[in-house]
Amino acid sequence: MSMKVTLIPERCIACGLCQTYSDLFDYHDNGIVKFASAEDLLEKEIIQDASVLEAIKNCPTRALIKD
Ligand code: SF4
Repeated sequence: MSMKVTLIPERCIACGLCQTYSDLFDYHDNGIVKFASAEDLLEKEIIQDASVLEAIKNCPTRALIKD
């Protein structure tokens, strides 16, 4: 099963938490979230992944969304 993950960089406070759950996430030089494999994408379809779901759940500002 797949799931869509959306990033909302305007909400990101560069806390660095999401990458501790999943390498799907990486950061720009200023610490704002991006996808590790796709610099400029804000949406990505991925295989359902418990670690990514945890990251989404734990983001303090809801900058990560699962559709
Ligand atoms: S957990 Fe949320 S606020 Fe923290 S770096 Fe990741 S996207 Fe940004």
